[in-house]
Amino acid sequence: MKKISWITHSQYDIPLPKNHKFTSSKFSDLYKELKTKDFYKNAVILRPDKASVNELEIVHDNEYILKVQNGTLSEKEIRRLGFNWSEILSNRSFLAVNGTLLTCKEALKNNIACHLGGGTHHAHKSFGSGYCVFNDIAYSSRKLIKENYVKKILIIDLDVHQGDGTAAILSKDREIFTCSVHCKNNFPFRKSKSDLDVELDNGLNDHEYLNILRQTLKKCMDKITPDIVIYDAGVDVHKNDKLGNLSLTSKGILERDKLVISFFKNKFIPVATVIGGGYSDNKIELAKRHSIIFQAVDEIFN
Ligand SMILES: [Zn+2]
Repeated sequence: MKKISWITHSQYDIPLPKNHKFTSSKFSDLYKELKTKDFYKNAVILRPDKASVNELEIVHDNEYILKVQNGTLSEKEIRRLGFNWSEILSNRSFLAVNGTLLTCKEALKNNIACHLGGGTHHAHKSFGSGYCVFNDIAYSSRKLIKENYVKKILIIDLDVHQGDGTAAILSKDREIFTCSVHCKNNFPFRKSKSDLDVELDNGLNDHEYLNILRQTLKKCMDKITPDIVIYDAGVDVHKNDKLGNLSLTSKGILERDKLVISFFKNKFIPVATVIGGGYSDNKIELAKRHSIIFQAVDEIFN
């Protein structure tokens, strides 16, 4: 039985007003859901430490990081972010970036590792956006390169929204290839340019989606031979997602995740997974959707 590292923290949840589109308890809900699974026995739970201001400067402006730390974001900045500032939000933002970095380091050791968070891909260099404070994917990628863990990285972002912050921050990083597969008619309406963008029409179903994904993975491998893949397994591609416009079923998402995980496992390339977006008024249903990537990983590795 292969043990699989899961990275999480008890302080990931975000305090939000009732009726907020983002599920305040989604990180602890996911952990609770995963505890009920058979494959929970194969998990090794690890917790990240907070990143420092200095470390975050590898991707974000010092001024912006300090505003998040001190709670001095302007009203306009708060609106763009979509979250009110709180000490808890600030704290979890500094934790979660290192959660993804720790997931990558575990993946390099064990070929696979899963973050019970991460995928805050709308965060830009000097501002937060779309419920994303700091960009964990860009941060982890740059850190891994700078600290000589790897030479080349592939980012596969399958959240229904474009990874605009990641693409913009990493646009000049030639050793990091950014690929975003997303719904064309969805947030962000002004898109950035990833190294490979695949735009999908509304209402795409499982079968059509999986065909496009197969071709996309091959295209990425023509462009880069990565030492690690960071995989954003956003579940807002689900047909019942509040903010997605696609028509994937839970079974389709499981197939999607197994396709990505097995594709790189067969090539002996480590994969670090992050959960990305997912929106539902039913928090149990949402936790079940986010648990799919963990199931997929267990099915492929065990
Ligand atoms: Zn999303």
